[in-house]
Amino acid sequence: MKKINLNKIVRTNIQQLKAYSSARDEFKGVAEVYLDANENPFGTLNRYPDPQQIAIKKRLSEIKDVNENQIFIGNGSDEVIDLAFRIFCNPGKDIALTFTPSYGMYNVSAAINDVELIELALNQEFQINTDVLECYLEDENLKIIFICSPNNPTGNCFEDETIEFILSKFKGIVIIDEAYIDFSSKESFINQLKNYPNLIISQTFSKAWGLAGVRVGAAYASKEIIDIYNKVKPPYNISALNQEAVLNKLDNLAQFEIEKNIILNEKEKLEKQLQEIELVKKIYPSEANFILIEVTNANELYNSLVAQKIITRNRNSLVNNCIRITVGSEKENKKLMTALKELSVTPDEVENSF
Ligand SMILES: *Cc1c(COP(=O)(O)O)cnc(C)c1O
Repeated sequence: MKKINLNKIVRTNIQQLKAYSSARDEFKGVAEVYLDANENPFGTLNRYPDPQQIAIKKRLSEIKDVNENQIFIGNGSDEVIDLAFRIFCNPGKDIALTFTPSYGMYNVSAAINDVELIELALNQEFQINTDVLECYLEDENLKIIFICSPNNPTGNCFEDETIEFILSKFKGIVIIDEAYIDFSSKESFINQLKNYPNLIISQTFSKAWGLAGVRVGAAYASKEIIDIYNKVKPPYNISALNQEAVLNKLDNLAQFEIEKNIILNEKEKLEKQLQEIELVKKIYPSEANFILIEVTNANELYNSLVAQKIITRNRNSLVNNCIRITVGSEKENKKLMTALKELSVTPDEVENSF
């Protein structure tokens, strides 16, 4: 087990912070009369929700095989990322690091928190160049490294050896963003929590769990890190409605598996069909529920698809002439393929076909 010194990583003001103790924190059991939180006694959503989301954590603890006190529930992964900056990085002083191309929120969240984000370019295979990274690992002000695996928008996972190298060498916090892990053939790093006290794993209910509208994400880490997250979060960060929606999903794992397998099956079909399209130059292998393709002209293709009311993600600014396509339902994917086939037909061919 690696040793880290959290006192050196956590901001001093956060170490000294005394958490707000809500009414629902002070009395936890079941009572007959609640006159403690200035709620309205009428209605069905009149009561404050469980500030610690115990029911969700109980279920997740069973499913993920981690202790309940190693789970933080956030208002989407966005909250997990934002709180990391606020807990570990002194604004205007500390720095964070990630790789590019990757998820855009690390950059935005860093900027909001006045933290400089170093973005190291991935190599040709979209893997991490450890030689370049090593120069940064000793920097005392480097507090967080974000690793998005499977990576958005490239779709690949990073090599386990590389991630473990970073986890063991780096003395700060490593956040592995596993938003797409449910679609991947690789295992989650959750079972490495016992070896690395500097590891935070971020997952979400927005992708494979089908609850993007609900805004719930989860972080898994050591009890010490989770305690700090709970101290810093807004007291009632997950609404009663959102907690209920998550619990319903967690009670129907069979449906989760069915949907996931349909999506994976559709992805395989899409990958095959895309190979037949002339304007598609390259299909990147994907461990997620999206496919990154290189085309002859991404801006043009994106606009042509929009004109047909089909919205894809133009990633041309991140990866030259690349478009990211989310795997949809069978019907949606068919519409996309029909449109792509039509767009692939050159004017000459149209003439000849009459
Ligand atoms: C979609 C996505 C998320 C999910 O964010 P939420 O705030 O939980 O909806 C997180 N990380 C990555 C890399 C994503 O692509």
